[in-house]
Amino acid sequence: MNNTEWWIKATLNKTPMFWFDSGNLNMSQLPVPCVTSEGIALQDNAYQVLFENSRDAICLIDAVTGRILKVNQAAEKLLNRPRCELIGLHYSILHPPGECEKYTMAFDQYTHEETTSINTEVYTGDGRIVPVEINASLVQMPNGSCVLQGFFRDITEHKASEAATYLLSCYDPLTGLPNRWQFIEHLANAQTTAYRSDLFGAVLLMDLNAFKRVNDACGHDFGDQLLQDVAIRLNDILREADIIARFGDDEFAVLLPSLAHSIQMAAWFAQTVTDKIHNALAAPFSLPYGEYSPNVRIGVTLFPQEEETASNLIKQAETAMYRAKELHCDTACFFEAPMQKAVEARFALESDLRRAIEKNQLRLFLQPQVNSHGRIIGAEALLRWEHARRGLVPPADFIPLAEETGLILQIGEWVMAEACRASVRLANAGQPLRLAINVSPRQFRHPNFVVSVQAILAATGADPASLTLEITEGVVIDDVEDTIAKMLKLKTLGIRFAIDDFGAGYSSLSYLKRLPIDELKIDKSFVQGAIDDASDAALVETILAVARHFNLGVVAEGVEIIEQETFLKDSGCQCFQGYLYGRPELAETLIQSRLANPFNTFRDGEPQ
Ligand code: C2E
Ligand code: CA
Ligand code: CA
Repeated sequence: MNNTEWWIKATLNKTPMFWFDSGNLNMSQLPVPCVTSEGIALQDNAYQVLFENSRDAICLIDAVTGRILKVNQAAEKLLNRPRCELIGLHYSILHPPGECEKYTMAFDQYTHEETTSINTEVYTGDGRIVPVEINASLVQMPNGSCVLQGFFRDITEHKASEAATYLLSCYDPLTGLPNRWQFIEHLANAQTTAYRSDLFGAVLLMDLNAFKRVNDACGHDFGDQLLQDVAIRLNDILREADIIARFGDDEFAVLLPSLAHSIQMAAWFAQTVTDKIHNALAAPFSLPYGEYSPNVRIGVTLFPQEEETASNLIKQAETAMYRAKELHCDTACFFEAPMQKAVEARFALESDLRRAIEKNQLRLFLQPQVNSHGRIIGAEALLRWEHARRGLVPPADFIPLAEETGLILQIGEWVMAEACRASVRLANAGQPLRLAINVSPRQFRHPNFVVSVQAILAATGADPASLTLEITEGVVIDDVEDTIAKMLKLKTLGIRFAIDDFGAGYSSLSYLKRLPIDELKIDKSFVQGAIDDASDAALVETILAVARHFNLGVVAEGVEIIEQETFLKDSGCQCFQGYLYGRPELAETLIQSRLANPFNTFRDGEPQ
């Protein structure tokens, strides 16, 4: 560099910003130091001019005290404060609290050689917060002290254009949905969460058959409108946590995170969502030349899968989607054979279950409930399905499906009517027995529930006082007001209510106080754990104490051995149900044995 030419190293890219001749400099008049790349201090009015007229806002800060020594016009303008207000302030006053820390951390990194660049924010005199880029470096003064010189640049516009670019790069401008790139990001996050939470999720890929014909026949404007309408319909039926994306043309993707803990259940839920999608898009879209009902082909894959990237999962869903197209499949296709099998099995079960009532395959079983003397005082109605091929199917294998599909409404009515008929037969024979009937959440929540119970009572002539309806805590929590209203209506008829599996769910004491409940059923897991596990024992004792306090009856379920009964009796329990007294058996069998031996007591199934 020429000896008489000096430059100020001012910006991060280290290109010379100002050039001037040292011959014009008068070092003695300089109000602040200015330092060359070789570390030589300059003092001159020329510097003052350059300093004042710089496009960048410049602040000089005492590196020891952190106080502002000098600012230029651009800094006054940027900060919207006169220099007389700024000089002497601590630099931290300029920054919002969190931002100031960023600044301070960067402070430690300032060196004489390097210019440090940080993106931060500053307060302005009129209360705005302005995003700025600061390029700062430490300057050693001839007297040994240090000054921090900071070049501030307002980056509001830059940020806005960055945000706009980001939006464009992440979202589909036509529908406003995330694009493929953004979807992959969401999916990658969902995979991590799925591993951590042990919950399976699903990726759905779909396209609308014959969409191209709409574009060709009606023009792109209508094609665009159609895609927007599809996006709206999808948005309406999916959960908030689900992500819908458009990959281009008529290809949409859906991410369903956190569906279920088992792959089968997740496949099942994913299938339910694809059904919803088919239904939502089945209603015709109006177009200038008629209506359009797209054939939607959907491919599904589940995650997490060991070492599969988000892109690979999308490819899997794509493969499944092509299979759905080939097969002209109106239901979705799954990528993996076991998933496909699980879904097919579910479909087969569903269609069989739909016909179970008309084929007379449902069976009502009864399991006795006894008092502390072993005398039978009631029975719980438990459903079985006598399937032609599968044999006797336990309720756990089909009640969730019935609940999911809504078939539970019909099935629940069948159980209630059958239990009422059993109750009438026992009463007519002079052997009345209180029967407990399980009511599923969907059944209870149905607006016609009360009316349907009343109709069954009227049709069968059963005495409402001989019925106890068992509901679970989940039903109560969902809508306490509605639950109370329904319970009160049925209670006026004389029906009793029990909370089933008490202790296994939410178990809030506050609803016990508010709900018109008569009985708690202690979940069998606690009853069975109580003799070995101190916390189960404590729970059983607590439930009994709570029941005493609220004046509620208690039935302990799942009593299998005499030690469990002894513990329960010692804790004050007076009503028991379990294999120790009798397994569930055909209602007819129990009715017959009761009619034959009205004073039977039960233990190990043997009369005493
Ligand atoms: P739940 O209401 O808790 O019924 C008690 C379950 O415990 C019954 O199983 C019963 O057979 C079983 N159990 C009784 N004593 C013992 C015992 O000593 N040891 C063991 N290990 N188990 C015992 P099940 O019949 O398989 O019914 C399972 C669940 O299916 C029922 O649980 C209930 O939630 C549901 N369910 C059964 N029938 C119906 C129904 O008609 N409607 C509805 N909505 N759900 C039903
Ligand atoms: Ca029950
Ligand atoms: Ca139970």
